[in-house]
Amino acid sequence: MRAEPTSRRHAVVVGGGIGGLAAAVGLHRTGWRVTVLERAPAPRESGAGISLLTNAQRCLDRLGVGPAVRAGAATMAPGGEGLRLSSGRRLQPPADPAFLRAHGLSLAVLTRPALHSALREALPDGALRTGTEVTRVLDLGDGAAAVCRTPGGEHVERGDVVIAADGTHSRIRAVLWPHLPPPVHSGHSVWRGIAEGVDGATEPGGSTWGRGLEFGRMPLGADRVYWFAVANTPEGLRHPDEHAEVRRRFGHWHDPIPALIDATPAGRVLRHDVLELAVPPPSYASGRIALLGDAAHAMTSDLGQGACQALEDAVVLAAALAGDEDVPRALARYDEQRRPRAGAIAEASRRMGEFKLTEHRWRLLRRNARMWRTTPRESQRGLAGVGDWQPPALPGPAPTLRGEPR
Ligand SMILES: Cc1cc2nc3c(=O)[nH]c(=O)nc-3n(C[C@H](O)[C@H](O)[C@H](O)COP(=O)(O)OP(=O)(O)OC[C@H]3O[C@@H](n4cnc5c(N)ncnc54)[C@H](O)[C@@H]3O)c2cc1C
Repeated sequence: MRAEPTSRRHAVVVGGGIGGLAAAVGLHRTGWRVTVLERAPAPRESGAGISLLTNAQRCLDRLGVGPAVRAGAATMAPGGEGLRLSSGRRLQPPADPAFLRAHGLSLAVLTRPALHSALREALPDGALRTGTEVTRVLDLGDGAAAVCRTPGGEHVERGDVVIAADGTHSRIRAVLWPHLPPPVHSGHSVWRGIAEGVDGATEPGGSTWGRGLEFGRMPLGADRVYWFAVANTPEGLRHPDEHAEVRRRFGHWHDPIPALIDATPAGRVLRHDVLELAVPPPSYASGRIALLGDAAHAMTSDLGQGACQALEDAVVLAAALAGDEDVPRALARYDEQRRPRAGAIAEASRRMGEFKLTEHRWRLLRRNARMWRTTPRESQRGLAGVGDWQPPALPGPAPTLRGEPR
């Protein structure tokens, strides 16, 4: 293990999810000493798939992990073979390949553990401390600190900055802005799974809409396909067999949907209520403490941008802190650069969810007529507005990845 020089500025990152790990990689890359405090007892080893649009892929490149992530990912054209109704009737054709090429738009599809692992591998040994729950953070004026609870007792981790990447239910956000309403249920739930033993390599992926329902599928490479199924449900509703519930709701939809559900190992269907932060925090920064990822802008999954935005946060934060010795001023700049964009994308994601998951008869007819009339170019322009984003450059050499010669 390399000895870490102690004179370097020290960032304490709360949360070892995609956002926290990416922020730590960015800061490590720009010369900071980093400590990631994660309450889970071990690094994440399970989970379904995730898709990352070009904006996020560029961030991964800036962080130096783009090649490692792409090596474990399949590439898909956004929208895949197009949009269908549950009968199979086509609502929209596939995206125009020339447009996608001109904007460099693509989706990288991989498993969540693969993404976590690529980010973890780019951190120095010992930077990630699992089994460490942060109970409080303190802005000390000349530094910041996190109070941690571990199986061995309580201790305080001091740094120059604390990055709160502690997810949708962020405790730190609640401490900084106690009057902010907590996250709310968006009205829908998502089931996710990975079908195995199918010809994933030839599956183009695509999206299908029903009445208050959606089924999306994405190739994962080899013989695997990641799928997700969305429905309007009351918060907290659970079924004894979620796999059977997905089959009941989607098993009569067009091919290959029933086959994908059947090819998913029993007991490996995940179900989550989708929550969002309906009222954003007044700032993503307070003194030496910054909010990042879902802690700052938990959004619905309807645009598939939650993690992408966390990755954008990570690169912008690392660039802001690299360019200014004054931590509060750098965090204020991070807030200024990130809040408008992430807020607008969260709002667009909410509107998309309401539009596509409507159950109201007339709105359903209007929805279908609108999608039918919208040209692929028109819908792709919206996509380009999100995917065209360019991350700032980070100073310093790309990190040496573990397992590679230093
Ligand atoms: C169904 C679904 C599908 C999605 N699909 C996509 C997609 O395809 N593409 C996309 O870009 N986004 C997608 N998202 C969104 C994406 O999953 C999230 O935006 C992303 O994971 C947020 O990462 P994060 O690091 O901010 O938060 P999290 O992943 O929630 O990580 C927070 C971490 O902090 C830890 N933690 C919490 N509290 C403490 C504490 N007090 N002390 C220490 N550690 C703590 C937690 O254990 C956790 O590891 C989807 C979301 C859902 C629900």
